[in-house]
Amino acid sequence: MDKKQQKDWKWQLKNRITTIGQLEDFINLSPPEKERIGAASGRFEWAITPYYAGLMDPDNPDCPIRKQALADVEELHDNLGVPDPLDEGKHQPVELIIQVYPDRVAFCVGNRCAVYCRHCLRKETMFGEEDADFSQEKIQRGIEYVRENNDIRDVLLTGGDPLLMSDERIENVVCQLHEIPHVEVIRIGSRTPCTLPQRITDELCEMLKKYHPLYLNTQFNHPREITPESERACAMLAEAGIPLGNQSVLMAGINDSVEVMKKLCRELMRIRVRPYYLYQCQILSGTRHLRTPIERGREIIEQLQGYTSGLAVPKYVLDTPYGKIPLSPNYVVGREGDDFVLKSWDGKVWREPNPVELSHEDTVEEPQLKACRQRCSTG
Ligand SMILES: *Cc1c(COP(=O)(O)O)cnc(C)c1O
Repeated sequence: MDKKQQKDWKWQLKNRITTIGQLEDFINLSPPEKERIGAASGRFEWAITPYYAGLMDPDNPDCPIRKQALADVEELHDNLGVPDPLDEGKHQPVELIIQVYPDRVAFCVGNRCAVYCRHCLRKETMFGEEDADFSQEKIQRGIEYVRENNDIRDVLLTGGDPLLMSDERIENVVCQLHEIPHVEVIRIGSRTPCTLPQRITDELCEMLKKYHPLYLNTQFNHPREITPESERACAMLAEAGIPLGNQSVLMAGINDSVEVMKKLCRELMRIRVRPYYLYQCQILSGTRHLRTPIERGREIIEQLQGYTSGLAVPKYVLDTPYGKIPLSPNYVVGREGDDFVLKSWDGKVWREPNPVELSHEDTVEEPQLKACRQRCSTG
């Protein structure tokens, strides 16, 4: 492979790995390992950019990159998982728009991804049919829905990966949304900084920066994914004035330890990506082997909070058909009278008197007056 070609995102996409034979150019696979992949191959789509395959440990079957990207027979043994745990099918006022909150929507603008993640929330509802951008008519109807609903002030472009569209198609959507007076913020959800960092080009950044305020949330799940290439992609976006956030998924054997998560969050801060969410892995088809007990996530957050910068601590949430629900550990231990009893990051107990709200008749002098009256009446 020639180095120059590898820097071209279109080359990366054209040369995605979709067979065990191609995979063997990158990693060593034992016959049972090949069988595990083969057995699951027909069930959920898989494809991997040569770049992302290059991050795999050639000799370790438990490599966290392999686990996120390779089909595995375990995916067939999940009798609890459902195809659409968020009931997104029932939250579509028009096709492509998912609305759970009055003031913001998710807008699925395409169903292609650079890498098909094993833990993808939409692996059954979005993929499997043909890889394609959605039709311009459908996208236009989505934009019209946003235009007609004045309460929507934040539009989150997702899919699929919106950045797999051409710059021109992205601009068509972003420009039209930007023009709508009540749309205050546009957000892009894209895993390309992690799985296809070559996608972040000067041309793309020049185009996006015309449409501020524009935010981008990406998804790194393991420190091994932070490479010179992904660092460069994030720096380019940051330099275009785009605030970057990260949404990780907590997954067994991949990042469900304090050590890995702390390293990931610190590394993200170093490349100017703010950890935003840590998702509890959904009860989603074919993910039983990736799900962890909720206690695991809470323990991890407890070991980050206070132990590293607050900026590096993501919010631990569960996404549900009713929206995202925080699963954060609790630092309020209880009440003693009006006081709040709190627990510090390192386990000390703090008791905080609870300020009383002043009613409009109250004045700040009143407590002195009260004390004075008391002295007079007892004296
Ligand atoms: C996650 C999500 C959003 C954005 O949620 P924030 O908590 O604001 O990041 C909006 N709409 C849908 C349907 C979502 O799933």
